[in-house]
Amino acid sequence: MTALDEFKLIDFIKKHNTKPKKFHNVDLDIGDDCFVYNSSDKNKYVVTTDILIDNIHFRTDWATPEQIGQKAIEVNVSDIASMGTAKPLYAFISVGIPKNTSEKFIKNFFSSVKKTCDKYDIHLSGGDTVGAEALTISVTLIGIAYDKIITRTGAKKGDLIFVSGTFGDSGAGLEIMYNVQCTTYKNPFNFSTFRLLNRHERLLVQRHIVPKARLKLANELTKKSNITSMTDSSDGLFKSVELLAGNKGAVVNMEQIPVSKDLVKYCKNDLNKLYNFALFGGEEFELVFTADKQDYDKIKKFFKNIKCIGKITDNKKIKYLRNNKIRNIKYDGYKHF
Ligand code: ADP
Ligand code: MG
Repeated sequence: MTALDEFKLIDFIKKHNTKPKKFHNVDLDIGDDCFVYNSSDKNKYVVTTDILIDNIHFRTDWATPEQIGQKAIEVNVSDIASMGTAKPLYAFISVGIPKNTSEKFIKNFFSSVKKTCDKYDIHLSGGDTVGAEALTISVTLIGIAYDKIITRTGAKKGDLIFVSGTFGDSGAGLEIMYNVQCTTYKNPFNFSTFRLLNRHERLLVQRHIVPKARLKLANELTKKSNITSMTDSSDGLFKSVELLAGNKGAVVNMEQIPVSKDLVKYCKNDLNKLYNFALFGGEEFELVFTADKQDYDKIKKFFKNIKCIGKITDNKKIKYLRNNKIRNIKYDGYKHF
């Protein structure tokens, strides 16, 4: 029996889906960071949903209920950010709660969900509450697009590939948490194990546990430059480049991939380890986008922390260069199945 593959399964669902009718007013269907539809008043609405499950997307023995609540909203806002000029408006949150969960835990979780929604002016609009084997959180966000929608598929040959933030921190943070084996502690942030970590290790762990969406940055970038395609790096930088390159191709200079001082310190001199985290770590929600090469100076001028890591080609291959040599890199990211 062949193992399930998340990406092939989504392709299967897409292929077997019925075409939307005209009255559905679908602008962008399954396959992007958000679904987009046009309303009768001609506004465009974006919709996204993401599920988070204990032991896969977070761990209740590593993170506080507040941190889990914040992450559940941030990761969904990140998909709205990927659409360029969109803003989230409404959140629906469904929770599957195991029997032994305390009331205090759930109240703290929901306070944090509410606080994070408030930060983005999102109205909590509904959801569902059920019992479950493992804590399961499903969030759906509905947002509005004020201007042009940026999809994953608009890049053209010659466009430059840009990224926000740094890559690999979250993956390294996850490894650190495994290695310190603080699973016996309820919350490592308050216990001695966490205090045993070095400062740079703590910062890496922090980036894994509470990611931040780049909504404001995405809105400003789209206003000030001609972005041709965009996604967020939830499945890692390697996967994001693959999505934007589509059936064209790309070349990425590995030395240009931004990495934090904390990650460099953690990986010491092991460059293979460093690039492995940077390309496949995932769960970090940075923006990965393309823009016409004429926009390079404008982007550099307005956005100091945006880095150019490569360009789109038309040879159907994605090449990774290190020391000017092509490196053979195969997908080595998280697999759900
Ligand atoms: P993201 O990582 O940005 O949340 P995903 O890789 O999870 O995106 O999903 C890619 C696309 O596939 C999205 O359009 C999403 O809505 C769609 N998708 C994922 N899982 C399913 C599913 N079970 N049924 C229908 N569509 C799905
Ligand atoms: Mg996404």
